[in-house]
Amino acid sequence: MKFSDLATFFEKLEKTASRLSLIDILSDLFKQTDKEEIDKIIYLLQGRIAPFFAPVEIGMADKTIADAIARAFDETREDVLKQYSKMGDIGLVAQQLSNKQQATSNKISVEGVFEILRKIADTKGAGTVEKRIVFLSDLLRKVDPVSAKHLVRVPLGKTRLGIGDPTVLDGLALAILGDRSKRKLLEKAYNETSDLGLIGATLLKEGLEKVQKLTVTVGRPIRSELCERLPNPLKVFEKMGDEIHATPKYDGFRVQIHKNGEDITMFSRNLENMSHMFPELIEGARKQIKAKTAILDTEALAYQPDSEEFLPFQETTKRRRKHDIDEVAKTLPLKAFVFDILYVDGKSLIDTPLHERVKILEKILHKGDILLPAPGQILTDPKDLQIMLDDSISKGLEGVVVKRIDSLYEAGGRNFNWVKLKRHSAGELHDTIDCVILGYIWGKGKRTAFGAGALLVGVYDSEKDEFVTVSKIGTGLTDDEWRSIKLKTKNLVRTTKPARTNSLIAPSVWVEPSIVIEVLADEITRSPLHTAGKNGIKDQRSKIKDQNEQGYALRFPRLVNFRDKDKKAEDATTVEELIKMFEQQGKQ
Ligand code: ATP
Repeated sequence: MKFSDLATFFEKLEKTASRLSLIDILSDLFKQTDKEEIDKIIYLLQGRIAPFFAPVEIGMADKTIADAIARAFDETREDVLKQYSKMGDIGLVAQQLSNKQQATSNKISVEGVFEILRKIADTKGAGTVEKRIVFLSDLLRKVDPVSAKHLVRVPLGKTRLGIGDPTVLDGLALAILGDRSKRKLLEKAYNETSDLGLIGATLLKEGLEKVQKLTVTVGRPIRSELCERLPNPLKVFEKMGDEIHATPKYDGFRVQIHKNGEDITMFSRNLENMSHMFPELIEGARKQIKAKTAILDTEALAYQPDSEEFLPFQETTKRRRKHDIDEVAKTLPLKAFVFDILYVDGKSLIDTPLHERVKILEKILHKGDILLPAPGQILTDPKDLQIMLDDSISKGLEGVVVKRIDSLYEAGGRNFNWVKLKRHSAGELHDTIDCVILGYIWGKGKRTAFGAGALLVGVYDSEKDEFVTVSKIGTGLTDDEWRSIKLKTKNLVRTTKPARTNSLIAPSVWVEPSIVIEVLADEITRSPLHTAGKNGIKDQRSKIKDQNEQGYALRFPRLVNFRDKDKKAEDATTVEELIKMFEQQGKQ
C-alpha cells in the first residue's frame, strides 16, 4: 500500500467520531492491507512503530520535528514553532507548509516510510539529532501534504485518530472474520500477548486458529488480572466459597517481571516497558529468581524493612521517572512484593490453579531483600479475614486482596476470582473511582487565572470503547492542582468533541481523553445529565423502564490523586464497575 493511501484512511478516521463508522473505515483499510504490512499499519495507527510494550522510540520531540519540517520546506525553525503554538498541532503545520511547497509526490510505500522511521529510532551515537532531522526532512519531501500531516504525528505518538485497542480488534474481526462481534475470538490472544500487530499479522498469514494458539511468552507483557469489589468479609465468603486465599493489598504500582536468563524486563500495568527505571529490582530479579525463564506478578513500593514502614503511593510514584534514576534509586529504593507467578522455565502457568502457582512461586523465589513474597493465607472464617484487613490497614496498607484458590489466571479479566477489600470511612464509597478528564468549564473569578472552573470527567465504557461523563468537579482542587492540570492538558485541549467522547454536557473546551485522576465521592446517583450507563448496560435493580434513560453520576466528588503515570485513559474505572459499585451502596 502506498503511504498516501494509508494517510487517506487516517484522514477519514480523524474526521469520524462515530465508533461504528470508525470500525467500518478500519475494516475497509484492513481489507486492502497486504499480509506483510498489516502489523506495521496497526502500529502506525497507534502512533507507534512497534507494540506499546517494546522500548522502541523514534526519539524526536516537538522541537526536532519542527527542525525537520523547517529543513524540508525551507522555513526557519522559529517560524515553524510560531505556527505550531498558534495551531496547536504539528501535523497541521507540516501539511500547510507542504501545501505551500506543492509537494505532491505520493509514491513511497507504507513499508518504505516504516523502514525510515525504524532507521530514525535505531540511530545512535554522535550526531544522532542531526541524522534524525535529515531522515525525517528527506521523507517529508517525498510525501504529499496529507501524508506529511499524519507522518509527523507518529514520532509524537499523537495520531488524533481516536482509536482504542478494542476498536482495532473490532475492525480486524469485521474485515477478516466478517462480523465485529467475532472480536471475542481474538481477545484471548490480545490479553496474553498484548500485541495487536502480531494478532493482525497472524490472522492474515495463518488464520484464526493460529491466533487462538498465541499465548504467553517471556518478553511480552500479559494483560493484568484485576479485582472486583465486595463490601465486607461476610460477602466475600458468600460469593467466593468456603476457602479463600488472602494477601495484603500494597499501594504501590504493579510490575510484571520477566526473566530470560540474565535479561530482565519489567512492565507496568498499562504495558509500558519500565525496565530502565528500577535497577535495584533488576538486580533482585537476577539474584532471587531460581529459574531460567519466569514471569512474576508483583507490586513495587518504597518500604523500610527495619521499621516495617510502607511509604505512601505519592512517595513511591516518584520513582516512575526518566532522569537521575540511579540517584533516586539510592534515596528511595523499591521492594517488590511478589504475589503470583505466570510462567516458569518455558511453561505458561496461567492455566494452573492459584494454589499450585503459589507453591511453585515459593520454590522459585530465593530469600533476599528485594523481591519479597507477599504473605498469603488460606482462610475459612470471615472473622480471620476481618482481622487480616484491620491488621493491613493498621500497617498503612490499602486493604486485602482475596483470591479464589482454584482460579486460573485470567489475563485482562476483572471478575470475582480476585476481590479487593479496602478501608473506608463513613459517608464515602468503599473505593475511589478513576476518572478521565474530558473537558473544562470556565469559571468566574480567581479560578479563571488558572484556566478552569470545573472539570468534566468521565469513565470508560469498555464495551463501546468510548468515554462517558459522570461528574463535574469544581471544589476541593487547590490552585497548584489547577496549575498542574492545565500544564498536563496543554496539548490535549480541543475545540470540538474528540472521537470516542460521549457527553450531553458541552464544556467550554474539550480535552482529549488521556489524563486519569482518582476521585472520591460520597455516593453514586442516577442522573439524566450524564451518559455513563445511559441506554446501555441495564441497571439490574431498576424495575422502572425509564431508569435506563438515566446515567450514573458522582455525588460530592473530590480529587484524591493523579493516576496519569500508571493508567491510560482505557484503564480508568469502567461503566460496568460503576454500576456494580452503585448496586453495592448501602450494603455494608
Ligand atoms: P486501585 O485503584 O484500588 O489500586 P486498581 O484499579 O489499580 O485499584 P484493582 O483491580 O482495583 O486495580 O486492584 C488490583 C491492583 O492492586 C493490582 O493492579 C495491583 O497493582 C494491586 N495489588 C496490591 N497488592 C496486591 C496483591 N496482593 N494481589 C494483587 N494485586 C495487588
